[in-house]
Amino acid sequence: MLALTRIPPEDEALRGEIRAFVEPAISALPADVRARSWMGFDPAFSRALAERGWVGMALPREYGGGGRGVFARFVLVEELLSRGAPVLAHWIADRQSGPMIARFGSEAQKRFFLPGICRAEIGFCVGLSEPDSGSDLASVRTKAVRAAGRWRLNGRKSWTTNAHRVPYMIALVRTSGTPADRHAGLSQMIVDLAAPGVTVRPIVDLTGDTHFNEVAFDDVMLPDEALIGNDGEGWAQANAELAFERSGPERLLSSQVLVDEWFDWLRTRREPPEAQVAALGAILARLVTLRAMSLAVTARIAAGESPMLAAALVKDLATLVEQDIPASIADLLAGLPDFAGGPAPRETDGDSPPPEMLMRTLAYVAQISPTFSLRGGTREILRGVIARGLSLR
Ligand SMILES: Cc1cc2nc3c(=O)[nH]c(=O)nc-3n(C[C@H](O)[C@H](O)[C@H](O)COP(=O)(O)OP(=O)(O)OC[C@H]3O[C@@H](n4cnc5c(N)ncnc54)[C@H](O)[C@@H]3O)c2cc1C
Repeated sequence: MLALTRIPPEDEALRGEIRAFVEPAISALPADVRARSWMGFDPAFSRALAERGWVGMALPREYGGGGRGVFARFVLVEELLSRGAPVLAHWIADRQSGPMIARFGSEAQKRFFLPGICRAEIGFCVGLSEPDSGSDLASVRTKAVRAAGRWRLNGRKSWTTNAHRVPYMIALVRTSGTPADRHAGLSQMIVDLAAPGVTVRPIVDLTGDTHFNEVAFDDVMLPDEALIGNDGEGWAQANAELAFERSGPERLLSSQVLVDEWFDWLRTRREPPEAQVAALGAILARLVTLRAMSLAVTARIAAGESPMLAAALVKDLATLVEQDIPASIADLLAGLPDFAGGPAPRETDGDSPPPEMLMRTLAYVAQISPTFSLRGGTREILRGVIARGLSLR
């Protein structure tokens, strides 16, 4: 019989310790705030996590990291996101920029940035997308040209999460050739967002929150050492980063606070509607299966493989479920008797209407859920990766 991947005991052992820290730290936050987890920005919470060694956990010890493997990080991410902890103050640096610098950065870059990332004192944003380059990333137009031993940067990035709150961006830019050259001639640069010529304009999303931005570069002068890795190899580096972030537990848990809130309410009802209990069971069965798939991909990453196809498959399937959850719960609640008309059921009946906090959490998750399959590569782009991996195109 096929054996399912299990988290090694020494990594699973972290769970209780993390839970004991996270639970009291977030207990005062209402569910509709916790539902924002990825977007929740709380530097004090991130620094407290860092003090316990839970930021930069997978980065090398010699630069302040924890030297732990991907399974330890799997446990940490599950515990943080399933409870809706505010992770954004360290999330991008911990998950993307730190590993990128550790892998491709110079010794000086590692010594300067990684310890600060591990203390949750240095935050990063990722500058890939541009107003005319999203899915078609190879067409980026932002350009850095050599100028007296430095780089002169001009162009515009968009949808840049966190750019209004962090000091640095890792940007994918063209350092030679033209957009027609596609993957050739792209490089990655660390941009100091306080440099003259950088303008950050926040963009408000559908829910009224501000987490991403448009960032303009007008003759921004960067030092020679802003380049990460080799000139012209930015495409391969950026793709390595995207593959790394596609299949983790973060792709299953975006609607988890809502599921728990709904479940808590169902448990208060004298006779939970059968359709709702059945729907809850179906959702949990899909989540458990996807978690097993995510763990299987994690095992391959731990073994040193780069499972692009499997990671894309997990992200595509998991974001479908994450998006189905608010849609299904909304349909089920809409099918309940109209609590607004007729005599209100008494609290003591055990058949009270859905509480306001459940409805607020549902409203937020329903509005934000389209983004689940946009961030980190859209559904159509992932399906292209899957088709290519299966030799279908
Ligand atoms: C919450 C959130 C946070 C984000 N944070 C960041 C960030 O920090 N940094 C960053 O750089 N970007 C960020 N993004 C941007 C994100 O990566 C892009 O939105 C995404 O890559 C899609 O690009 P686009 O918006 O330009 O859409 P487009 O590429 O214009 O796509 C529009 C539609 O066309 C489809 N499409 C495009 N090409 C094809 C094709 N070849 N075949 C079939 N269908 C296609 C797409 O799937 C999509 O449905 C963020 C996005 C969101 C929603």
